[in-house]
Amino acid sequence: MAIIAHAGFMHETNTFAPMKAAWTDFLRSESFPGLMLGAAVLELLAETNIATRGFAEVARAQGHELKPIAWASAVPSAHVTEDAFERMSAIVLAGLQPPFDAVYLDLHGAMVTEHLEDGEGELISRVRRAIGPDIPLVVSLDLHSNTTAEMAAGADGLIGYRTYPHVDMADTGRRAARYMDQLLSGARPAKARRVVPFLMPLTGQCTMLEPTAGVYRRLAALEAEAGVAHVSFTPGFPPADIHECGPVVVAYGEDQAAADRAADALFQYIMEREGEFEVPFLAPATAIATAMTSNATKPFVLADVQDNCGAGATSDTTGLLRALVEEGARDAVLGVLVDPQAAAAAHAAGEGAEIELAVGGKRFTDGDPPFEGRFEVRRLGNGKITCTGPMFGGSRIELGPMALLAIGGVELVVSTHRMQAADQELFRHLGVEPSERRIVGLKSSVHFRADFQPIAEEVLVVEAAGAFVDQPAKLPYRNLRADVRLGPNGVPHRP
Ligand SMILES: [Zn+2]
Repeated sequence: MAIIAHAGFMHETNTFAPMKAAWTDFLRSESFPGLMLGAAVLELLAETNIATRGFAEVARAQGHELKPIAWASAVPSAHVTEDAFERMSAIVLAGLQPPFDAVYLDLHGAMVTEHLEDGEGELISRVRRAIGPDIPLVVSLDLHSNTTAEMAAGADGLIGYRTYPHVDMADTGRRAARYMDQLLSGARPAKARRVVPFLMPLTGQCTMLEPTAGVYRRLAALEAEAGVAHVSFTPGFPPADIHECGPVVVAYGEDQAAADRAADALFQYIMEREGEFEVPFLAPATAIATAMTSNATKPFVLADVQDNCGAGATSDTTGLLRALVEEGARDAVLGVLVDPQAAAAAHAAGEGAEIELAVGGKRFTDGDPPFEGRFEVRRLGNGKITCTGPMFGGSRIELGPMALLAIGGVELVVSTHRMQAADQELFRHLGVEPSERRIVGLKSSVHFRADFQPIAEEVLVVEAAGAFVDQPAKLPYRNLRADVRLGPNGVPHRP
């Protein structure tokens, strides 16, 4: 029996996005509860598909005792403020009071702060300095981790998600707990890290599609080989302008040769398929015409990938909305567009009212202007929703006042707080059954596929303006290392 101290600190930083993550953003409850301290961590995450929960289940079953310190996350955005990072770092370090035998951290792996390129690398190094070289330190990571050399050096194990949509967050925690148990039994695996020399767009990282599905099949096969303890592949988060941005393979083996062999084999598999990690974008009008002229009975899902707040965008752009209205789309619904003023105006007017609004286009001002029109207020909601999809199922979210607005044949789901449209309950909350619409527009890059691909005739990825640019060659990198290719078979980066 061992005592395992643990903490979580999650942020995915899109350094090109307009809004930073301050301490108040980590205190607020949105997709996940706000800052939790001590025993509240395990109580509040007990129903949630999150790594800490899975870790706790397995560690307890193995007879270990858990010592929760704290857990906090904020919706992806631009940099985490220095103040927020230092406050959370201080809480974690202050919580590392003896007795404990091991440390587990539930991190994202793409945190950039105002003062640090590699937030997780710094936090892992601080924890390592505090606990010394011998206490096992295992870290679970999001699939979008930009897994740096400092992170790999400081941790005894980096255990990444294997699905995008992330339906295996709790499972990743379970894997981390089993790996931790090996360390507590005395194992000290050797490690190997390989850096893939091109940036991978998020749309190409989906594990429901090839070639990424095949990468994780290969990973599982390698892990089953003798001498290999664990393999992780984190395709990375391209809109983080840091030196070490990009996909990384990490492998652990009973000796250096085994770790190197597994890491090299997976690296090779990825490199042989470089060009296949690119998903084509369609003009919104083209996608709308495809949907409107089809005889299909199931909806066409139009993914507004570049306005995905799950990748740090504002989720308030109007490009796809404008196209739907201008192209005369019928039986269409689009969500979730964040506009607190529009939601408040709808609530003030009441269901059934007609109001003039200028919706969206307020937070991301480099794109389309607000969409002005006369909307019917079709339905109101308080934004308290329990998700039911494969990824967010069980999560209780709070999006603030919400409204279903209608203009012509287009319905628009408006919220007060941000969450990417990855769960059908966000629509059902306002009386919309997504499977009954011809077009379902979603502000999400890939996570929506878990709950929406099964009901869709086809998923079409559309290109509209947004603060998450899923085409690395279009991003103005300043800190990225030289020569990494900007996308699959892309041009080498010249700083
Ligand atoms: Zn992710």
